Amino acid sequence: MKITLIIPCFNESGILSKTICTLEQIMHEVADYSLLFVDDGSTDDSWELLTKAGQQNPKISAIRLSRNYGKEAALCAGLEQAEGDAVIILDSDLQHPPELIPEMINLWKQGYDVVEGVKKSRGKESLFSKLSAKIFYGLFKKFSGNSLDNASDFKLLDRKVVLAWRQFKERDTFFRGLSAWMGFKRIVIPFVVQDREGGESKWSFRKLLRLSISAITGFSAKPLLIVPLLTFILSIFFLVLAVQTLINWCSGRAVEGFTTVILLVLLIGSAIMISLSMIALYIANIFNEIKGRPRYLVSEQLNLPDKEQ
Ligand code: UDP
Ligand code: MG
Repeated sequence: MKITLIIPCFNESGILSKTICTLEQIMHEVADYSLLFVDDGSTDDSWELLTKAGQQNPKISAIRLSRNYGKEAALCAGLEQAEGDAVIILDSDLQHPPELIPEMINLWKQGYDVVEGVKKSRGKESLFSKLSAKIFYGLFKKFSGNSLDNASDFKLLDRKVVLAWRQFKERDTFFRGLSAWMGFKRIVIPFVVQDREGGESKWSFRKLLRLSISAITGFSAKPLLIVPLLTFILSIFFLVLAVQTLINWCSGRAVEGFTTVILLVLLIGSAIMISLSMIALYIANIFNEIKGRPRYLVSEQLNLPDKEQ
Protein backbone atom coordinates (compact mmCIF):
# COMPACT_ATOMS: atom_id res chain seq x y z
CA MET A 1 0.00 0.00 0.00
CA LYS A 2 1.38 3.33 -1.06
CA ILE A 3 0.58 6.77 0.28
CA THR A 4 1.09 9.89 -1.81
CA LEU A 5 1.49 13.18 -0.02
CA ILE A 6 0.37 16.17 -2.07
CA ILE A 7 2.09 19.36 -1.01
CA PRO A 8 1.34 22.64 -2.78
CA CYS A 9 4.03 25.25 -2.45
CA PHE A 10 4.40 28.80 -3.55
CA ASN A 11 7.65 30.63 -2.74
CA GLU A 12 8.45 28.34 0.16
CA SER A 13 12.21 27.98 -0.29
CA GLY A 14 12.69 29.20 3.29
CA ILE A 15 11.10 26.10 4.72
CA LEU A 16 11.02 23.44 1.99
CA SER A 17 14.20 21.64 3.09
CA LYS A 18 12.88 21.31 6.62
CA THR A 19 9.48 20.15 5.35
CA ILE A 20 11.07 17.51 3.11
CA CYS A 21 13.29 16.23 5.94
CA THR A 22 10.41 16.04 8.41
CA LEU A 23 8.10 14.26 5.97
CA GLU A 24 10.80 11.80 4.85
CA GLN A 25 11.51 10.90 8.47
CA ILE A 26 7.88 10.37 9.38
CA MET A 27 6.88 8.52 6.22
CA HIS A 28 9.96 6.32 6.22
CA GLU A 29 8.70 4.63 9.38
CA VAL A 30 5.05 4.38 8.42
CA ALA A 31 4.48 3.22 4.89
CA ASP A 32 5.62 3.12 1.30
CA TYR A 33 5.21 6.69 0.19
CA SER A 34 5.85 9.36 -2.37
CA LEU A 35 5.98 13.09 -1.85
CA LEU A 36 4.33 14.96 -4.69
CA PHE A 37 5.13 18.66 -4.57
CA VAL A 38 3.20 21.10 -6.73
CA ASP A 39 5.22 24.24 -7.30
CA ASP A 40 2.55 26.83 -7.93
CA GLY A 41 4.69 29.17 -10.05
CA SER A 42 7.22 30.06 -7.34
CA THR A 43 9.55 32.91 -8.21
CA ASP A 44 12.17 31.99 -5.58
CA ASP A 45 14.37 28.91 -5.77
CA SER A 46 11.73 26.43 -4.54
CA TRP A 47 11.92 24.49 -7.83
CA GLU A 48 15.71 24.18 -7.67
CA LEU A 49 15.39 22.88 -4.11
CA LEU A 50 12.79 20.34 -5.21
CA THR A 51 14.93 19.23 -8.15
CA LYS A 52 17.88 18.63 -5.86
CA ALA A 53 15.75 16.73 -3.36
CA GLY A 54 14.24 14.65 -6.18
CA GLN A 55 17.69 13.65 -7.41
CA GLN A 56 18.63 12.45 -3.93
CA ASN A 57 15.38 10.69 -3.18
CA PRO A 58 13.41 9.19 -6.08
CA LYS A 59 10.32 9.09 -3.85
CA ILE A 60 10.13 12.85 -4.27
CA SER A 61 8.35 14.01 -7.38
CA ALA A 62 7.15 17.43 -8.40
CA ILE A 63 5.06 19.32 -10.88
CA ARG A 64 5.89 22.89 -11.78
CA LEU A 65 2.95 25.01 -12.89
CA SER A 66 3.59 27.60 -15.57
CA ARG A 67 2.62 30.47 -13.24
CA ASN A 68 0.91 31.10 -9.91
CA TYR A 69 -2.62 29.70 -10.32
CA GLY A 70 -3.53 29.61 -6.63
CA LYS A 71 -3.65 26.80 -4.08
CA GLU A 72 -6.92 25.34 -5.38
CA ALA A 73 -5.47 24.77 -8.85
CA ALA A 74 -2.28 23.40 -7.31
CA LEU A 75 -4.35 20.87 -5.35
CA CYS A 76 -6.15 19.85 -8.56
CA ALA A 77 -2.79 19.31 -10.27
CA GLY A 78 -1.68 17.09 -7.37
CA LEU A 79 -4.91 15.12 -7.23
CA GLU A 80 -4.78 14.47 -10.97
CA GLN A 81 -1.23 13.08 -10.78
CA ALA A 82 -1.32 11.22 -7.45
CA GLU A 83 -0.85 7.49 -7.77
CA GLY A 84 -1.12 6.25 -4.18
CA ASP A 85 -3.79 4.00 -2.66
CA ALA A 86 -4.47 6.96 -0.43
CA VAL A 87 -3.38 10.56 -0.69
CA ILE A 88 -2.75 13.05 2.06
CA ILE A 89 -2.95 16.75 1.35
CA LEU A 90 -0.97 19.08 3.52
CA ASP A 91 0.56 22.56 3.47
CA SER A 92 4.25 22.96 2.85
CA ASP A 93 4.77 25.27 5.85
CA LEU A 94 4.35 22.54 8.52
CA GLN A 95 1.26 24.30 9.88
CA HIS A 96 -0.56 21.01 9.35
CA PRO A 97 1.23 18.80 11.90
CA PRO A 98 2.81 15.87 10.02
CA GLU A 99 2.97 13.91 13.31
CA LEU A 100 -0.72 13.17 12.77
CA ILE A 101 -0.08 11.35 9.50
CA PRO A 102 0.44 7.89 11.10
CA GLU A 103 -2.88 8.29 12.94
CA MET A 104 -4.62 9.31 9.72
CA ILE A 105 -3.23 6.26 7.95
CA ASN A 106 -4.41 4.02 10.80
CA LEU A 107 -7.93 5.40 10.51
CA TRP A 108 -7.82 4.83 6.75
CA LYS A 109 -6.71 1.22 7.35
CA GLN A 110 -9.71 0.84 9.66
CA GLY A 111 -11.92 1.54 6.67
CA TYR A 112 -12.47 5.29 6.55
CA ASP A 113 -12.35 6.83 3.07
CA VAL A 114 -11.82 10.41 4.16
CA VAL A 115 -9.91 11.51 7.25
CA GLU A 116 -10.37 15.21 7.78
CA GLY A 117 -8.08 17.42 9.80
CA VAL A 118 -10.26 19.86 11.72
CA LYS A 119 -8.74 22.89 13.41
CA LYS A 120 -9.01 22.72 17.20
CA SER A 121 -7.71 26.24 17.30
CA ARG A 122 -6.95 28.54 14.39
CA GLY A 123 -3.46 29.40 15.61
CA LYS A 124 -2.07 32.92 15.53
CA GLU A 125 -4.36 35.02 13.37
CA SER A 126 -5.47 38.62 13.28
CA LEU A 127 -8.93 39.49 14.55
CA PHE A 128 -9.79 40.60 11.03
CA SER A 129 -8.98 37.22 9.46
CA LYS A 130 -10.80 35.36 12.26
CA LEU A 131 -13.86 37.54 11.67
CA SER A 132 -13.69 37.20 7.87
CA ALA A 133 -13.43 33.41 8.21
CA LYS A 134 -16.46 33.38 10.50
CA ILE A 135 -18.55 35.46 8.09
CA PHE A 136 -17.48 33.35 5.12
CA TYR A 137 -18.23 30.00 6.80
CA GLY A 138 -21.56 31.38 8.07
CA LEU A 139 -22.60 32.44 4.57
CA PHE A 140 -21.29 29.22 3.03
CA LYS A 141 -23.31 27.13 5.46
CA LYS A 142 -26.45 29.21 4.88
CA PHE A 143 -26.25 28.97 1.13
CA SER A 144 -24.81 25.53 0.50
CA GLY A 145 -26.02 23.64 3.58
CA ASN A 146 -22.48 22.30 4.22
CA SER A 147 -20.94 23.23 7.54
CA LEU A 148 -17.21 23.81 7.14
CA ASP A 149 -16.52 25.33 10.55
CA ASN A 150 -12.85 24.89 11.37
CA ALA A 151 -12.36 22.71 8.30
CA SER A 152 -8.94 22.63 6.68
CA ASP A 153 -7.33 21.22 3.56
CA PHE A 154 -5.36 18.75 5.70
CA LYS A 155 -7.05 15.53 4.61
CA LEU A 156 -6.46 11.92 3.73
CA LEU A 157 -8.46 10.62 0.76
CA ASP A 158 -8.79 7.02 -0.31
CA ARG A 159 -7.99 6.32 -3.95
CA LYS A 160 -11.66 5.89 -4.81
CA VAL A 161 -12.37 9.40 -3.51
CA VAL A 162 -9.52 10.75 -5.64
CA LEU A 163 -10.93 8.98 -8.70
CA ALA A 164 -14.35 10.45 -7.92
CA TRP A 165 -12.77 13.89 -7.59
CA ARG A 166 -11.25 13.55 -11.04
CA GLN A 167 -14.75 13.42 -12.50
CA PHE A 168 -15.45 16.99 -11.45
CA LYS A 169 -15.36 19.10 -14.54
CA GLU A 170 -15.59 22.52 -12.94
CA ARG A 171 -12.68 24.84 -13.32
CA ASP A 172 -13.08 26.89 -10.16
CA THR A 173 -12.84 24.26 -7.46
CA PHE A 174 -13.14 24.72 -3.71
CA PHE A 175 -11.46 21.66 -2.26
CA ARG A 176 -12.80 21.96 1.28
CA GLY A 177 -16.38 22.43 0.10
CA LEU A 178 -16.31 19.80 -2.62
CA SER A 179 -14.80 17.17 -0.38
CA ALA A 180 -17.60 17.78 2.16
CA TRP A 181 -20.14 17.52 -0.66
CA MET A 182 -18.70 14.18 -1.82
CA GLY A 183 -19.66 12.26 1.30
CA PHE A 184 -18.01 8.81 1.66
CA LYS A 185 -17.20 7.23 4.99
CA ARG A 186 -15.46 9.99 6.89
CA ILE A 187 -14.00 10.79 10.25
CA VAL A 188 -12.53 13.95 11.69
CA ILE A 189 -9.26 14.29 13.51
CA PRO A 190 -8.71 17.52 15.45
CA PHE A 191 -5.39 19.33 15.26
CA VAL A 192 -3.85 22.53 16.51
CA VAL A 193 -2.61 24.82 13.73
CA GLN A 194 1.12 25.21 14.22
CA ASP A 195 2.97 28.46 13.80
CA ARG A 196 4.47 28.98 10.39
CA GLU A 197 8.07 27.76 10.63
CA GLY A 198 9.37 30.20 8.04
CA GLY A 199 8.25 32.56 5.29
CA GLU A 200 4.88 34.21 5.47
CA SER A 201 1.28 33.53 4.50
CA LYS A 202 0.74 33.53 0.74
CA TRP A 203 -2.91 34.45 0.94
CA SER A 204 -3.65 38.09 0.29
CA PHE A 205 -7.02 39.58 1.17
CA ARG A 206 -7.78 39.84 -2.56
CA LYS A 207 -7.06 36.12 -3.12
CA LEU A 208 -9.22 35.16 -0.15
CA LEU A 209 -12.10 37.35 -1.28
CA ARG A 210 -11.95 35.86 -4.78
CA LEU A 211 -11.92 32.34 -3.37
CA SER A 212 -14.88 33.13 -1.07
CA ILE A 213 -16.99 34.54 -3.90
CA SER A 214 -16.20 31.69 -6.26
CA ALA A 215 -16.80 29.14 -3.47
CA ILE A 216 -20.25 30.53 -2.72
CA THR A 217 -21.36 31.19 -6.29
CA GLY A 218 -19.93 27.82 -7.32
CA PHE A 219 -21.92 25.99 -4.67
CA SER A 220 -25.32 27.59 -4.53
CA ALA A 221 -27.65 29.72 -6.60
CA LYS A 222 -29.47 30.84 -3.48
CA PRO A 223 -27.88 34.32 -3.33
CA LEU A 224 -29.66 34.98 -6.63
CA LEU A 225 -32.98 34.64 -4.81
CA ILE A 226 -32.28 38.07 -3.35
CA VAL A 227 -33.63 39.48 -6.63
CA PRO A 228 -37.20 38.11 -6.33
CA LEU A 229 -37.07 38.67 -2.55
CA LEU A 230 -36.25 42.37 -2.95
CA THR A 231 -38.89 42.66 -5.65
CA PHE A 232 -41.48 41.14 -3.32
CA ILE A 233 -40.64 43.35 -0.32
CA LEU A 234 -40.48 46.51 -2.41
CA SER A 235 -43.77 45.70 -4.18
CA ILE A 236 -45.62 45.55 -0.85
CA PHE A 237 -43.95 48.77 0.25
CA PHE A 238 -44.77 50.51 -3.03
CA LEU A 239 -48.38 49.35 -2.87
CA VAL A 240 -48.83 50.92 0.57
CA LEU A 241 -47.15 54.10 -0.63
CA ALA A 242 -49.30 54.24 -3.76
CA VAL A 243 -52.49 53.96 -1.71
CA GLN A 244 -51.30 56.70 0.64
CA THR A 245 -50.33 58.96 -2.29
CA LEU A 246 -53.74 58.45 -3.90
CA ILE A 247 -55.55 59.23 -0.64
CA ASN A 248 -53.46 62.40 -0.27
CA TRP A 249 -54.27 63.39 -3.83
CA CYS A 250 -58.00 62.79 -3.36
CA SER A 251 -58.03 64.87 -0.20
CA GLY A 252 -56.15 67.72 -1.91
CA ARG A 253 -52.90 67.38 0.18
CA ALA A 254 -50.62 66.16 -2.59
CA VAL A 255 -47.80 68.70 -3.06
CA GLU A 256 -45.19 68.09 -0.33
CA GLY A 257 -43.04 64.96 -0.27
CA PHE A 258 -39.67 65.78 -1.86
CA THR A 259 -37.87 63.82 0.87
CA THR A 260 -40.00 60.79 0.08
CA VAL A 261 -39.01 61.05 -3.59
CA ILE A 262 -35.29 61.18 -2.76
CA LEU A 263 -35.59 58.22 -0.40
CA LEU A 264 -37.54 56.25 -2.95
CA VAL A 265 -34.99 56.87 -5.70
CA LEU A 266 -32.20 55.74 -3.35
CA LEU A 267 -34.14 52.67 -2.31
CA ILE A 268 -34.98 51.59 -5.84
CA GLY A 269 -31.45 52.42 -6.97
CA SER A 270 -29.81 50.25 -4.32
CA ALA A 271 -32.24 47.39 -4.85
CA ILE A 272 -31.41 47.40 -8.57
CA MET A 273 -27.66 47.61 -7.89
CA ILE A 274 -27.76 44.72 -5.41
CA SER A 275 -29.75 42.58 -7.82
CA LEU A 276 -27.47 43.40 -10.74
CA SER A 277 -24.36 42.66 -8.66
CA MET A 278 -25.68 39.23 -7.76
CA ILE A 279 -26.47 38.48 -11.38
CA ALA A 280 -23.06 39.83 -12.44
CA LEU A 281 -21.23 37.51 -10.01
CA TYR A 282 -23.04 34.51 -11.43
CA ILE A 283 -22.49 35.57 -15.02
CA ALA A 284 -18.78 35.97 -14.25
CA ASN A 285 -18.76 32.48 -12.80
CA ILE A 286 -20.59 31.01 -15.81
CA PHE A 287 -18.23 32.90 -18.15
CA ASN A 288 -15.19 31.45 -16.41
CA GLU A 289 -16.54 27.94 -16.50
CA ILE A 290 -17.97 27.94 -20.01
CA LYS A 291 -14.67 28.78 -21.69
CA GLY A 292 -13.47 25.38 -20.59
CA ARG A 293 -9.85 26.46 -20.28
CA PRO A 294 -7.52 24.11 -18.43
CA ARG A 295 -7.28 24.83 -14.70
CA TYR A 296 -3.50 25.15 -14.92
CA LEU A 297 -0.61 24.49 -17.28
CA VAL A 298 2.40 22.39 -16.36
CA SER A 299 5.81 23.65 -17.37
CA GLU A 300 8.06 20.95 -15.89
CA GLN A 301 7.84 17.61 -14.13
CA LEU A 302 10.24 15.76 -11.90
CA ASN A 303 10.32 11.99 -11.33
CA LEU A 304 6.89 11.56 -12.89
CA PRO A 305 5.87 9.46 -15.88
CA ASP A 306 4.97 11.67 -18.86
CA LYS A 307 1.24 11.94 -19.01
CA GLU A 308 -0.88 12.94 -21.98
CA GLN A 309 -2.66 16.12 -20.88
N1 UDP B 1 -0.07 28.13 -1.73
C1 UDP B 1 -0.04 27.84 -3.08
N2 UDP B 1 -0.41 28.81 -3.97
C2 UDP B 1 -0.82 30.06 -3.57
C3 UDP B 1 -0.89 30.32 -2.19
C4 UDP B 1 -0.51 29.33 -1.29
O1 UDP B 1 0.32 26.72 -3.46
O2 UDP B 1 -1.13 30.88 -4.44
C5 UDP B 1 0.34 27.09 -0.76
C6 UDP B 1 1.40 27.54 0.23
O3 UDP B 1 2.71 27.36 -0.27
C7 UDP B 1 1.14 26.65 1.43
C8 UDP B 1 -0.36 26.44 1.36
O4 UDP B 1 -0.77 26.77 0.03
O5 UDP B 1 1.76 25.39 1.31
C9 UDP B 1 -1.09 27.30 2.37
O6 UDP B 1 -0.74 28.65 2.17
P1 UDP B 1 -0.36 29.62 3.36
O7 UDP B 1 0.45 28.92 4.39
O8 UDP B 1 0.25 30.84 2.76
O9 UDP B 1 -1.80 29.96 3.90
P2 UDP B 1 -2.26 30.15 5.42
O10 UDP B 1 -1.64 29.03 6.20
O11 UDP B 1 -1.76 31.47 5.82
O12 UDP B 1 -3.74 30.05 5.34
MG1 MG C 1 0.16 28.32 6.20
